[in-house]
Amino acid sequence: MDQLGVSPARILMRGATRRCPVCGTGGLFSGWFNLAKRCPRCELRFEREPGTFIGAIGMNTIVTFVSLFGIILVGAILTQPNIPLVPLASLAMGWALVSSVGGMPFTKTLWLAIDLLLSPLRDDEAPRAPRVLPRTDSPRGAKVAAPKPKPPPRPDLN
Ligand SMILES: [Zn+2]
Repeated sequence: MDQLGVSPARILMRGATRRCPVCGTGGLFSGWFNLAKRCPRCELRFEREPGTFIGAIGMNTIVTFVSLFGIILVGAILTQPNIPLVPLASLAMGWALVSSVGGMPFTKTLWLAIDLLLSPLRDDEAPRAPRVLPRTDSPRGAKVAAPKPKPPPRPDLN
């Protein structure tokens, strides 16, 4: 089912490319790791609930370990019976570092997208998000409404 006027695949793709899953805006990070508290465009608060990013850490860990296991398994199969333990372990450790550290921003926004699909956006979460309104002229679809006017600044914004 579409949410925000876009397909779930598009919401996931936005998340997988470090974009806001709600509006698709990029540039959400300062540096590699620091995700802004809110989206500059739709004003989605990224930490939707306390502990939102525990899922992202878990997903990053699972991806890292599964790919690590794959590298070790494929490396061992391709080089048997003389498995080069030190080079293979070095490759695996290098990959673990790249995957876990380098992949963290991607898993954060991807997890946000998954969280959004599992727990649809509430009206108060992203004041400037596109809203999908039921259409009266088409039995199939919905249309995207213009965003609400920008509310006054909140005291919790930095
Ligand atoms: Zn946004």
